[in-house]
This record gives sequence, C-alpha cells and structure tokens, in this order.
Amino acid sequence: MESLARRFGTPLYVYSANHITQRLELFQLAFSSLPHLVCYAVKANSTLAILQMLACRGAGFDVVSGGELERVLAADRAAAERIVFSGIGKTAAEMDLALRSGILLFNVESEGELELLSERAAKLRKRAQIALRVNPDVFTETHPYISTGMREHKFGIDIRRARAVYRKAGKYLEPCGVSVHIGSQIRSAEPFGAAAQRVAKLIADLRRDEHPIRFMDVGGGLGIEYHSDRPFDPEEKVRQYAAALMPIVESTGGLTLLLEPGRFLVAQAGALLARVLYVKKNGEKTFVITDGAMNDLIRPALYQAFHEIVPVAPRRSSRRAPADVVGPVCETGDFFARDRELPALQPGELVAILDAGAYGMSLASNYNSRPRPAEVLVEGKRARLIRRRETIEDMLAQERAEALL
Ligand SMILES: *Cc1c(COP(=O)(O)O)cnc(C)c1O
Repeated sequence: MESLARRFGTPLYVYSANHITQRLELFQLAFSSLPHLVCYAVKANSTLAILQMLACRGAGFDVVSGGELERVLAADRAAAERIVFSGIGKTAAEMDLALRSGILLFNVESEGELELLSERAAKLRKRAQIALRVNPDVFTETHPYISTGMREHKFGIDIRRARAVYRKAGKYLEPCGVSVHIGSQIRSAEPFGAAAQRVAKLIADLRRDEHPIRFMDVGGGLGIEYHSDRPFDPEEKVRQYAAALMPIVESTGGLTLLLEPGRFLVAQAGALLARVLYVKKNGEKTFVITDGAMNDLIRPALYQAFHEIVPVAPRRSSRRAPADVVGPVCETGDFFARDRELPALQPGELVAILDAGAYGMSLASNYNSRPRPAEVLVEGKRARLIRRRETIEDMLAQERAEALL
C-alpha cells in the first residue's frame, strides 16, 4: 500500500482482482444447478477494467443508463447479449442504443415507458425482450435511500397491476420475464425469498394469459458486513441467498434466473488510500484531516455509512482514542468517520478506508474542484493503473468562458 501510494499518489482506490473474481464464482457456483446468469450491477463500480475482467468470466451486466451500456460495450462488445437494462427514466435515445445493440432484456418500469419502447422498437424494426419490473411491496431493513421495493417508492409497477400492463406490449415487444429489485445492502435472505414468491405467483398468472415467461430477474441487493468485528462469511451468505431463491425458481419451472449483484461482488475488494494532512484539536475533539474527501467517497455523508479505517503502517502501541476522520471539503458532512476509536495518527501517514470498492469511485465527483482519484487493480504481485488521476486540465477542458473586455 505504501509503495502504491508513492507510485500513484493519494487519494487512491486500490482493488483486488482475485477478490472480485472469487465473489463472482461464489455466485456462479451457488446457482450452478439452475440455468442462470449473473448480471453484475454496473453502477456499483463501472470502471472499464473491472467490467472487462467480469465479462471475461462470463458475467452479464445490469445497466441503468446509456452511459453504462456504452461502458459495457467498450469493455466487451460481445457482452451485449448478456445485458439487462433497468431504470425508471430511459430516454428514447437510450432505448435506441439498447435496441441496436441487441441486449438481452429491458426491465420496463412504467406504462409510459412500455409505450415509448414499443414505438422505438417499431421505428427501428427491432424486436425486444421485455420484463416488467414489479414493485412487490416487500419491507427491507436497510437505509431508506436504498430501499426500493415498497409501494411508496418510485421503482417498478405495482405488482397488482402488472398483469394488465403485460397485455399492452405491442407486437415488437416480447414479454418474457418478470423482474424485481427490492433494495441494496440487505443482510437477510428472507425478503428476497418473499419477493421471489410474489413474482412466482405473477409468473403463473402471466403464463395462464399465454405470455411465455422464461426469465425471473431477482435484482441485486445482497449486503455485506462493513464492521470488521462482526462475523461475516460470504460463502454462507450466498448459500442462504440461493437457498431462499432456488426452490421457488425450481417449482415454477422453465425459468432462467437473472441475478444482479453489485455491492457483494466489489465492495470488499477495494480500499480508498488517503494520506493524513493534519491532526488538529478543537476543544475536546480530535480531527484527522486527510487528502481524501466526500467527493472521493460519499457513502458516509449520503447514507451515514460505516467504513473501517486502518493505519497502513504497523503500530507499536495499542492505545486508541476517539477522532473524526474528515476531508478538506467545505461541508460539515465531509467525514469518513465520527468519534471513531483509532490509534494515534500522524501527518504524512497513510490510512486505508476499507470496503470502498462499491459505490465509491462510481459516485465520486469534482465538488470543490477536486480532481477524482486514480484507480489501481492488483493482480497477484502486479499492480496496474486502470484509471489515471484526473487533472485540473481534464476538468477545465469541458468549460468555456468568454474573456470580459
Ligand atoms: C443498484 C441495483 C442493483 C445492485 O444493487 P447492489 O445492492 O449493489 O447489489 C441491482 N439491480 C438494480 C435494478 C439496481 O438498481
């Protein structure tokens, strides 16, 4: 970590390639007794090298914008047939791109979208396979900003109305799946089973209506453990998840299961390395100010998320004291940790903010005109720069200002 930080500078995202491929294999293995496709949720971490690595290993992709679709195509053009397109606000241009690319499945989230997609498909004379993303009204214990499967949320079509909506698919659209996604960072398998149960019932109804349903897309959302002192066994988690879903898929019959894990595959593969700039005391409080900030990793500010923070250099003493770890951005919400028991840190030291591989770089911004960090992928003993650090020139290049006379 020290040598990577010296070589590439800080703040720096560092990912383990092995970790990501192992997590993908856990999923692929757990569901191997069924026809299935693991469609990695690109928004968790959309860096090209990571998409490429997953594509090589047979992963499909869940995209939520034309930009993400272009990313997958740039990483591996042949992956188009393994792409599902989700999202509640697809534009005509995004639909056209997806229709021309020949993706696997559109997850349609409203009647309006169904009408527009039908129009675009007719215009381009491209048939499209569609699933309706239904809202199963299932409660999940997670942060309110990442819970999506209840009636009051903006996502999906009310499951009670779905049957009527399927009848409206025009002749260019082939209704062949049902999809759900109930939220993110869900730790228990139970709500996934509950949602799948409701979907299975809808599939039975749709088949009675003579829709040839072949895909059940159960979305993503399987959570990880961010606290290092709490037990977490990823293998067991995936096993429980598979145990909740597979009997339902098997008893429905004739289905290919689509899975859309994001966080579970990449979160724990990545750390954000930051250098301590200053340590200052305001009254009783200690602030550790790092060169990383909320623009690099917004999860603590946005979701009150917890990330373990560890000094990279070994410690002689085990003494700890509470401190806030903060960035240079001019926002009180710019923190990585508050009142965290940490070993004493010195200016110039390196800290690693752990489990930052998902919803880290993909949510990074230029707030406070800070260039976004570089990213490095570690493959065994090799480390490869997969995104160079953004420069001030990169940021200014998009802007035009007329000189005032
Ligand atoms: C965000 C999202 C996912 C991935 O969620 P994770 O919690 O990262 O697994 C999957 N499917 C859809 C439709 C999403 O919006």
